[in-house]
Amino acid sequence: MRIQNKIALIFTALSAGIIWALSVFVYFFASESISASFFHRLEVRSDIVGHAALQENKSLTSIYYDIKERHLGSLPYEKHRILPDPPDEATKKRLSLPSSFFEASKNEIPVRFFNHDTSYVVLRVARDNKRLMVVSSALDTYGMQEMGNLKNLLLIGFFIAMIFVFTFGKLFSNEIFKPIRRIIRNVKGINAHNLHQRLVVEPTDDDVEALSRTFNDMLDRLEVTFEMQNNFVSNASHEFRTPLTVVSGEAELGMSMPGLPESVKESFLNIYKEVEKLEHLTNSMLSLAQTGFDGKKEQWEGVRIDELILSVKEATDRIIPDNHVVIDFDNLPDDEGKLVVNGNLALLKAAFSNIVLNSCKYSDNKPVRIKISADAKYVIVEITDQGIGIPDREIGQIFVPFFRASNTGRYKGYGIGLPLTNNIIRMHQGKVEVHSRVQEGTRFITYLPYRYSHHS
Ligand code: ADP
Repeated sequence: MRIQNKIALIFTALSAGIIWALSVFVYFFASESISASFFHRLEVRSDIVGHAALQENKSLTSIYYDIKERHLGSLPYEKHRILPDPPDEATKKRLSLPSSFFEASKNEIPVRFFNHDTSYVVLRVARDNKRLMVVSSALDTYGMQEMGNLKNLLLIGFFIAMIFVFTFGKLFSNEIFKPIRRIIRNVKGINAHNLHQRLVVEPTDDDVEALSRTFNDMLDRLEVTFEMQNNFVSNASHEFRTPLTVVSGEAELGMSMPGLPESVKESFLNIYKEVEKLEHLTNSMLSLAQTGFDGKKEQWEGVRIDELILSVKEATDRIIPDNHVVIDFDNLPDDEGKLVVNGNLALLKAAFSNIVLNSCKYSDNKPVRIKISADAKYVIVEITDQGIGIPDREIGQIFVPFFRASNTGRYKGYGIGLPLTNNIIRMHQGKVEVHSRVQEGTRFITYLPYRYSHHS
């Protein structure tokens, strides 16, 4: 779950708890106070009835009732029972009220009891040795209705509040996480090929600013390390070149020296061949280092991919004269503009040569097909061979420098070609895909964005 939603939910749950507790408190407080006031009204009536009952003088009794009716009115289902004090068991039973209720009542101090929505009051009154007990009951229909209304109001209020809280919580956390999402977006765009890019730091003086700064510091250190590593490889291969050239020159000289025994000449030839391989290796390493890091963008031009592939084929013919590379032009786009890529001709040529030469090498010169096509954004070159394939779990590593798959035992190589190809294609904002099956063949698909930008 996104942190943003989590925060909105926690926020809502917390508010729900608080509002619920508050509602329960309000409900019980209101209920207590309504019921207390109703009891009080019942007690006043009970008192009047009790004292009226104690009167010997009947005209006074009627005055009591008159006052009660006129000034107090009657309560819903109001009932008064005048009992002897103490009441007999039969009466108690008939009223089905707990006997403790009768016993608790002291003289003139009413006792309250609530049962099945009905409020009961018992009051003891005494006058001139005459003692009575009044049990009054009434139903607080008005209070019950009020409480029902209050309950509905609180429930509706609760749900409306929840909807508000959740909506605002979401908007709020959305707002809070905006800068974080911006950082995630920016960080996604930074990789080994544009390590110089930095996050925009907004002076907000908060954690987000600190995070951006920390990230930029880390990028600074990473960039320095990358640069150091690249410079090292670059310098080392550069330094190797001169002595290698000298050695190969000397070997060539030795080979052509007259009068030397054949075995010595053979040795010179071997030295010459091995040094040539070393030269090739150092040159590849140099290119790998140069392309691996914020590639140099001088000498970029419009490169036509179909022409480039033709020149790759010619180069392949020179290196492996008995190759079976065929170019399939059937899917060329009608619009020639979709074949032109903005790039460095020499690098692109090296990139495609590596793939094509590999295909010939790892298939022992079985047919290799190169298909050129285009989609809405890319020129697509597919190079398919029928060679030894790449074991499934090693496919992910073939672009790692010096990696060679486990089935390449009898084929010579260094594991530099493909990383270089990958770097070059990425430098050109493209990508390389590999599909392979052991003993069946391998297909490399490269995508390069074409330069064509104006829409007619
Ligand atoms: P290498 O010098 O070993 O050919 P690359 O960098 O060109 O180095 O290739 C890396 C590895 O990828 C190779 O060692 C091989 O295991 C695998 N590979 C590349 N192309 C093919 C192919 N067409 N068929 C089978 N395996 C391949």
